[in-house]
Amino acid sequence: MIKKRNIQRPGVRIPVAALDTIRHKLTVELTDGPLSARDISGRIGVSEKEVYDHLEHVRTTLHRLGRILIVKPAECVKCGFVFEKRKRLKKPGKCPLCRSEFIHPPLFSIGEEL
Ligand SMILES: [Zn+2]
Repeated sequence: MIKKRNIQRPGVRIPVAALDTIRHKLTVELTDGPLSARDISGRIGVSEKEVYDHLEHVRTTLHRLGRILIVKPAECVKCGFVFEKRKRLKKPGKCPLCRSEFIHPPLFSIGEEL
């Protein structure tokens, strides 16, 4: 029996160079922002979940370059609640006030550190 070679799935064991490329693309797109993770996902061809992971990383590296990741917080469509104190970048699932699941996703862009 011939052993099949493992087919590489996206997100699994990505070479470092590829990661750099994705993060570079992400940074370039962000200068064009503000964009939601979904927008970015469509532009650079990785899943939304991966976009959030990369954003966390990019936020740290940008800081070293004297630039910052600007986050426009998520907002409840129904009651207008703004998720200002949220530390994580990921879109919240539910509004804590009205329990609505219609949430405007957070928007990301890049700015200079003041
Ligand atoms: Zn709400």
